[in-house]
Amino acid sequence: MFVLDSHCDVPSQLLRGRDLSKDNVRGHVDFPKLRRGGVDASFFALYTPAWFSPDRATRYALEMLAAVNDALASNPGEAVLTRTPAEALKNKEKGLISIFLGMENGSPIQKSLSLLRLFKSLGVSYMTLTHNKYNEIGDSAAGIAKWGGLSPFGKEVVAEMNRIGMMIDIAHVSDRTFFDCIALSKKPIVSTHSSCRALCRHRRNLSDEMLRALSDKGGVCQINFYPLFLSDRFASSLDASGLDPIADKVENQWQADPLNPKKCFKWYAVQDSLAALDFRPSVKDVVDHIDHAVKVAGIDHVGIGSDFDGINVTPSGLEDVSKIGSVFDEMKKRGYSDSEIEKVAGKNFLRVLSEVQDVPERGL
Ligand SMILES: [Zn+2]
Repeated sequence: MFVLDSHCDVPSQLLRGRDLSKDNVRGHVDFPKLRRGGVDASFFALYTPAWFSPDRATRYALEMLAAVNDALASNPGEAVLTRTPAEALKNKEKGLISIFLGMENGSPIQKSLSLLRLFKSLGVSYMTLTHNKYNEIGDSAAGIAKWGGLSPFGKEVVAEMNRIGMMIDIAHVSDRTFFDCIALSKKPIVSTHSSCRALCRHRRNLSDEMLRALSDKGGVCQINFYPLFLSDRFASSLDASGLDPIADKVENQWQADPLNPKKCFKWYAVQDSLAALDFRPSVKDVVDHIDHAVKVAGIDHVGIGSDFDGINVTPSGLEDVSKIGSVFDEMKKRGYSDSEIEKVAGKNFLRVLSEVQDVPERGL
């Protein structure tokens, strides 16, 4: 079975001193954990915060990309930067983990299709159009709507991503931006890390109508493990605790001073408080979302995008990527066949990536 995680936030952790060769006590992803989890491909997201200026976002995305390249260069027997499904399958045969790049938030491309093409040429396979605020491309699920969906530039971006064979990721966008992408894109689109709104009301999740539209377009919804996107009861418990703004503040302080151990330990303490909250979801809740997405979108249109290292609390039983197999064990218990589990574990996402990359000019 080929196991693929379509979204994690390792690159920003590299800038905070993460050593991927070690089995880190804290942190969700490193090579030993990927190996124990049997993960064949992981998408490292170059995430830029929505409040960064465009110049700062471009610089930060390049710094993260450089850090990923350095980490791969110092671990040659472990993993390799990968661009296509064919390469990923060959890497598995050689015993190498495939690391793909995604870009989370389109602000590093500023208002330039040339920069979009540059990031593609550097190995970025998908771009999450926005993060938690509108940008030059379109409106986000969070904050005010500036454009009423995609901006005029965002429409050009969608066409160019189709032309160069880059995946359009609609995790984080507003509903109207989503439906603009559905209407405009000539290729399947994906959500690399969202869950189901029918089970948890959060605005980042996809409604049944959106799941059906994604499926009709041939795309895939990769279920996110973030407890806040899995359970309304957990969301209420988090709200009541008052921890959410504290967690944001402490994480931002760590980000501003990434190699300061005091900031880091403070962040760990917040993570421990979050994990102790009532109604923390478990792996069963993740599979409830998979069940629902399969029911609405079909077994060919669902996968997993953990959001590990980008989330401040995980479901119990899914504390880091080494435990990802517990999702498939739970699916087996619920009666999914091996071939159905294989689709969710990675086959569906690889199929969509192949379809998106099937362009006459191979992109550039
Ligand atoms: Zn995200």
